[in-house]
Amino acid sequence: TRSKLPDVGTTIFTVIGQLSAEHNAINLSQGAPNFPCDPQLIAGVTRAMQANHNQYASMTGLRPLKERIAQKISELYRTDYDVDSEILITASASEGLYSAISGLVHPGDEVIYFEPSFDSYAPIVRLQGATPVAIKLTVPDFAVNWDEVRAAITPRTRMIIINTPHNPSGQVFSSADLEQLAAITRHTDIVILSDEVYEHVVFDGEPHHGMATHPQLAERSVIISSFGKTYHVTGWRVGYCVAPAELMDEICKVHQFLMFSADTPMQHAFADYMGDPQGWLSLAAFYQRKRDLLQTMLAESPFRLLPSAGSFFLLADYSHFSDESDSEMVKRLIIDCGVATIPLSAFYTDGTDNKLIRLSFAKDEATLRAGAQALCRVK
Ligand code: GLN
Repeated sequence: TRSKLPDVGTTIFTVIGQLSAEHNAINLSQGAPNFPCDPQLIAGVTRAMQANHNQYASMTGLRPLKERIAQKISELYRTDYDVDSEILITASASEGLYSAISGLVHPGDEVIYFEPSFDSYAPIVRLQGATPVAIKLTVPDFAVNWDEVRAAITPRTRMIIINTPHNPSGQVFSSADLEQLAAITRHTDIVILSDEVYEHVVFDGEPHHGMATHPQLAERSVIISSFGKTYHVTGWRVGYCVAPAELMDEICKVHQFLMFSADTPMQHAFADYMGDPQGWLSLAAFYQRKRDLLQTMLAESPFRLLPSAGSFFLLADYSHFSDESDSEMVKRLIIDCGVATIPLSAFYTDGTDNKLIRLSFAKDEATLRAGAQALCRVK
């Protein structure tokens, strides 16, 4: 058949997940918790199902849930979103990304994004008949070179995709990054699509510098977030996006025909559960303990770890002890050492190999310890 994405294969998360299972490896690959969510949350879903909340939710999402989200964003980031016209509950953050790009990007448009990047951005842009324009983050600090962004902007630039905290590097935007982005987009009609699914996982007491913290950026931003990442339920597939009404109208036109609405009982459960802000307020410390445990244990390994300031991930460098490509290294680690990770080259469209692998610490303590022990045996 005439493929629309002839060069795209199966996503790396599925490929590595299968290989990992085949070899019974300790899985530090996918950014998905292997520990349970709060039983209260499950009780909330059960209650909602028993109360017969089992039919379609309203197209843009359950109003009490959208009210909670508006309140949270207002308190944390000081930007107010209108509950009826500026908040959309999506069937996963992935759906939010798709609906936003599909609704806002026209054929022939250019979309700037940063590599290494989450693997869905560029293919979604291409499916719209638009051109993804990759700018490489600097190595090894994975920062944006804003002069390169300035130089990449053309009259066709429709969107810039941001991801902070960043998957796969664990780096985060600073307030200086926000100022640069604001200066570059001022007096343009460029839309910012900001993937902030790890917004509550910023370490070392630092604040999250998201688009909603900057009024001028918020005006042109679509912000994507995820209940799965925040509440340890990535399989429930519920996320949300917020944007000024004019942008949101176009996103909803896609969402209504892609999903119509997101899962009803889950929305009821999240609305109840969001009454307690501890869920997100405690998340950074929770994941920081996991990051620190993995870091401490890997001090005995031959890998050199790059610092992680946020997200579920950290990168490990092996260039000083092996010439293997990162894909070869990852395969060897699964087959010979019984531990699964992701090669960083999977996050570059040109397959750039920096001899770095991504480790996910969204795992229980036993798994982190076992994974680290296996990585300590590597030669
Ligand atoms: N965001 C997660 C990761 O990067 C999982 C994404 C996925 O499997 N689609 O590991």
